[in-house]
Formats: sequence, structure tokens, C-alpha cells
Amino acid sequence: MATRLTSEQIERYSRQIMVPDLGGTAQMHLRDSRVLVIGAGGLGSPAAFYLAAAGVGTLGIVDPDKVELSNLQRQILHATSDIGRQKVESAKMTLTKLNPDVEVKTYPVRFDEGNAKEIAAEYNFIVDGSDNFATKFLVNDTAIKLAIAFSHAGIVRLQGQTMTVIPGKSACYRCLFKAPPPPEEILNCQASGILGAVAGTLGTIQATEAVKFLAGFEEGLLTDRLLIYDAKHMKFRDIEVKRDANCASCGDPGDKS
Ligand SMILES: [Zn+2]
Repeated sequence: MATRLTSEQIERYSRQIMVPDLGGTAQMHLRDSRVLVIGAGGLGSPAAFYLAAAGVGTLGIVDPDKVELSNLQRQILHATSDIGRQKVESAKMTLTKLNPDVEVKTYPVRFDEGNAKEIAAEYNFIVDGSDNFATKFLVNDTAIKLAIAFSHAGIVRLQGQTMTVIPGKSACYRCLFKAPPPPEEILNCQASGILGAVAGTLGTIQATEAVKFLAGFEEGLLTDRLLIYDAKHMKFRDIEVKRDANCASCGDPGDKS
């Protein structure tokens, strides 16, 4: 792999290279980075779209599902003509069309206990765009074990929340939530609905955090706080999250296997 950017890359990424906090060095870091996106849905679509546009060298996309008509209102990687196709294949086609420089690796499987470590170990950052608590806790625990930074997000109806986790440095998802809620308290997109643009906002924040982390930002990441977006009243607020020394995932006696 060439160490310098090509003239075509410099032109393609010129508007972000101009940003003083980024520049050419950050662009090379992005090119040499590998980001795993869990879920090619409402969060993963905008996140992967912007990460591909920004020139992240390798994107891994994990999703076991096929594109359905009811996905298209928010899952912007997929088009009407993709209905029935594997989401990871549709995602790869869209992302490659946008930026052929990006290598897209596809995993048409559910991210589960059996494959999580093996898949995640190849990546520098994880965007969790999953739509269920079991996967969100698995992403957290896997990322903590492998010391891979990640962005959590969740969305429902007209609300979303997001937080970035740097293993060993910041509070993790399990420090905040401990364990999945009882089934009767769970709201998800299928049962509760979601406005597509709300998913877009959260996924875009996740992509922004990934770029900042990969570009080497040491301050200003969304760590040790949960950002809450209330689209109904168009308000953002964040709440402090403290690391829990007894956290089952990242706590002191924690399992480092
Ligand atoms: Zn923790």
C-alpha cells in the first residue's frame, strides 16, 4: 500500500483535508483504517455511507437480512431494486459505486457469540448499528475484550441516544445499563416505529465519532457521556456516565481473555 495519497485521492478528499483538525495526515490514517459496521440498517446505512465517502480504507458490514420494502424509509444504502437481495451485497454495491477506493468486506451472518471475536478482531473501530439489546451488549463486551473503540447508538420513534466507548479509558455501555431490559420494556423499530431522518442523524454522529477517533482526536469524543436526541422537541442533551469499577465487562477484575 502506498504511503502517500494519490492526486486523485487529494482531490476527492480535498474538502475534509482542508479542515485544520484533519489534514493530509488524518486522511492517510483513514485510508489505513478498518471499520466494522454491525447492521446495514437505519444506523449502519448513513454511518457506512459517510465512512466510505470519507475514505476509510476497509469497511466490514455484518447483516444477516435481506432488503425488504419496509426498510427503504430509513435504510438508505438500499434501493427499491434491491428488495430481496442480501443487505450486505446491496450495501457493498452502493458503497463501491460511491467510492471504489474502499474495500468492503461482507458478512451475511448475525453477529453472535460464535463469530463476534473472530470478525471484530480485524478492525480498528466498530459502529454498532444493531437493533436489539442482545447484540448491543455483545458488541460492547467483544469490543472491551479486544480493546477496540466503538460507537453505540439506539433509536426509537423520534428519539435516539449515542455514546462512544474507548476500552480501558472511558465508561462502557454495560457501565451504564448493566444488562438488557426485561422484554416488556423493549421498544424497537419493528414494534414502535422510527422516523428515517432520526436514524440518519444518529448514524451520522456515529460516523463523525469514527472519523475523529481514527484521525487521532484525543479530546472531544463522545466518551463518558450519553448524548440524547429528542427530535420531537428538537433538543439534544447529554448525561454524564461514570465508569463502574464493578462493571461486569470493563471493571477491574474484568475478564481480559
Ligand atoms: Zn463497563
